[in-house]
Amino acid sequence: MSTLVSQRTADAAAVRAGQTEFLFPCAAPYYQEPLVLERAEGVWVTDAEGREFLDLFSGILTTGLGHCHPDVIERVHEQLRTLGHTSTLYLSENPVEAARRLANIAPGRLKRTFFTNSGTEAVETAVMLACMFTGRSEIIALRHGYSGRSVLATNLTAHAPWRPLPTSVPGIKHIVAPYPYRCAFGSPCDDRCVDAFARDLEEVIQTTTSGKPAAFIAETIQGVGGYIVPPPGYFQRMAEVIRAHGGLFICDEVQTGFGRTGDHWFGIEHWGVEPDIMVMAKGIANGFPVAATMTRDEIAESWTAKTISTFGGNPVGMAAVIATNEVMVRENVPARAAERGAQLRAGMDELAESHAWIGEVRGMGLMQAMELVEDRTTKAPSPRRARALLEAAKEEGLLVGAGGLNGHVIRIGPSLLITEEEVAEALARLQRACARVA
Ligand code: PMP
Repeated sequence: MSTLVSQRTADAAAVRAGQTEFLFPCAAPYYQEPLVLERAEGVWVTDAEGREFLDLFSGILTTGLGHCHPDVIERVHEQLRTLGHTSTLYLSENPVEAARRLANIAPGRLKRTFFTNSGTEAVETAVMLACMFTGRSEIIALRHGYSGRSVLATNLTAHAPWRPLPTSVPGIKHIVAPYPYRCAFGSPCDDRCVDAFARDLEEVIQTTTSGKPAAFIAETIQGVGGYIVPPPGYFQRMAEVIRAHGGLFICDEVQTGFGRTGDHWFGIEHWGVEPDIMVMAKGIANGFPVAATMTRDEIAESWTAKTISTFGGNPVGMAAVIATNEVMVRENVPARAAERGAQLRAGMDELAESHAWIGEVRGMGLMQAMELVEDRTTKAPSPRRARALLEAAKEEGLLVGAGGLNGHVIRIGPSLLITEEEVAEALARLQRACARVA
């Protein structure tokens, strides 16, 4: 453990009691007995009871360089000592340097950045921008999609459990999700289905909107939805259709950005499509609350009304963006994610051979999931097995995530710097956890 780590030890029972007494109950933690985390380094986290866990979920795909990366810590400390806060009313070097670095890795003409503090805010910024640029207000989103927790974002989100209020934002239409394992249009989900998805978008525009949509918004891989990977050719067709109707394509890279999917910096590059607006958060600053909305010049220039973000582009958060980017470029994380992702995937595919309740293994790079079913014929979702596997993995010292409409998908997204030995160790633990559930 690094010498920077504090030696304080929390009283786990007191933390759990305090959580119950003082925090909102709606943000429910994982596990029957929630984990109280105390320190972490790389892929390892230690709880207040001294137990060590191999973390395959990285605080929801966020600590892409692993926990407490020394370069990020160093740069953030230095910045905190120099200039901790400015607001967008004053210029400073860090937001400019951070934005320049994002422009270097973003596809095509995406060059301008607006910094905010969460994925939700970045989505809000993207949708407002699309409405301003087009002078329109209708948005097409995907079923099974997740966009965040504000009023607009929960209305864009298409999972009843994540929509706490009745629909309240008009003009949002949800089309059929490209969900190959449960494809609405055929199996295997191939080119014919891509045609059908495009027709669905076209028909929804023509029949349920004014015919003049502002944008189509989609995650490249539906993260909360359970790592749903659209088929080849999907985004090319969808971008064509929305653009043919004068709308923009907003790509949500909150989970898939920053090398996560392997080989490329952003998931959408696997489809070779340049989005009009791109949204990112999570892995951007290795755990600091930073998000970004990127677009090309003329779209950014269409926002002429006043706006401000007190914390957006905060010099300390920006220091974390810069340090994270430096390490990511140096370590070539897209290539590493592809290599370690292939190792992880091979191990998970092997597990699926031994357990008939693993309906499908899917994902890209170091973003891999297992959809759990009651049996492979009915494909009935099995949230009970997912709950059991989450607990069993914890018993084996392994942290994984859950997702999917029914909470029946096990989601994995470790540090992109995870080593070969750590992946092997994680797979051994996952195998033992699966055996417990079986
Ligand atoms: N978009 C996607 C694809 C997400 O996965 C999330 C968060 N899970 C968000 C937006 C919202 O991000 P945040 O929780 O930072 O507001």
